[in-house]
Amino acid sequence: MQQCIIKIIPLFYFCFQVLLAQPSQNFGIVIHGGAGYATPESMKGVETEYLKVMQTAIDTGYAILEKGGSAVNAVEAAIKIMEDSPLFNAGKGSVFTNIGTIEMDASIMDGSGLKAGAVANIRRIKNPISAAKMVMDKTPHVLIIGKGAENLWVAQGNNLTDTSYFYDKERFEQWQKSKQSEKDKINSKKHGTVGAAALDKNGNLAAGTSTGGMMNKMPGRVGDSPIIGAGTYANNQTCAVSCTGHGEFFIKHAVAYNINALMMYKNLSLETAATQVIQKELKEVGGTGGIIAIDKTGNISMEFNTPSMFRGYKLSNGKNEVLIFKK
Ligand code: ASP
Repeated sequence: MQQCIIKIIPLFYFCFQVLLAQPSQNFGIVIHGGAGYATPESMKGVETEYLKVMQTAIDTGYAILEKGGSAVNAVEAAIKIMEDSPLFNAGKGSVFTNIGTIEMDASIMDGSGLKAGAVANIRRIKNPISAAKMVMDKTPHVLIIGKGAENLWVAQGNNLTDTSYFYDKERFEQWQKSKQSEKDKINSKKHGTVGAAALDKNGNLAAGTSTGGMMNKMPGRVGDSPIIGAGTYANNQTCAVSCTGHGEFFIKHAVAYNINALMMYKNLSLETAATQVIQKELKEVGGTGGIIAIDKTGNISMEFNTPSMFRGYKLSNGKNEVLIFKK
């Protein structure tokens, strides 16, 4: 009997170790296409198109995760789909500055080892999120702006895209209209930034954000989207967050890092942390917008304080939703 027990103990120990080494079973992706002021009336006739692009972005990212791919690659792939669509304020559909230029920002963060990359004020890179990933993967820096980022893009063997590619007729008309009605004020109501956050089968978290910024912004203005800790943050110990909204508020309240910090230091759940930052801290000072996030166990949050937020998710538990308005 005693001998039998002695033999069984190492077996138990071995099984325990195997269980510990198992990669996380839960995985999934959550995305946004901007928080704002869309209503069922204003979306009549175009709603299906928005939902379709968001579902494609989700499916593309999810397929990567399902095959065992990394959260970072899933985030990049999902964001590229939305950057290539003129419907969202990123890449192809970016908004205009108050002098009619298009200046894009993006960032990405890998929660394993806190690796991060970002670009700001770029004008000739088709997919800004890939340029942000290039900064993360190929340089010792976190944020590279303007010509420096574009030169690096070329040096890495990529092509520049003519600025005319980013011109979208509808966006231009929107800009003209907003210029007349708002007399050159930045338009804090025209959001549409895109972002994604993912958890992969190995338990790695990643988040990314890409934007044309805010319509009628001053040339050279940079918002929260390329600022690590403000618009994007990922830490394998807590969560991955991507933000959208009035960037100046998101910078001042370090929104993405703030949510991570509340989880890390106060032990709050993702949902409680996100609600506190978006519905209390930001709301009290008039900061409009929202976040999407996923935590290390696969819980998600899609919290916003505007009437709408384009958003959706797909999780390994089979749940999949794409939404625009409040539930
Ligand atoms: N946060 C972005 C910015 O301030 C805009 C947005 O999310 O709509 O540049």
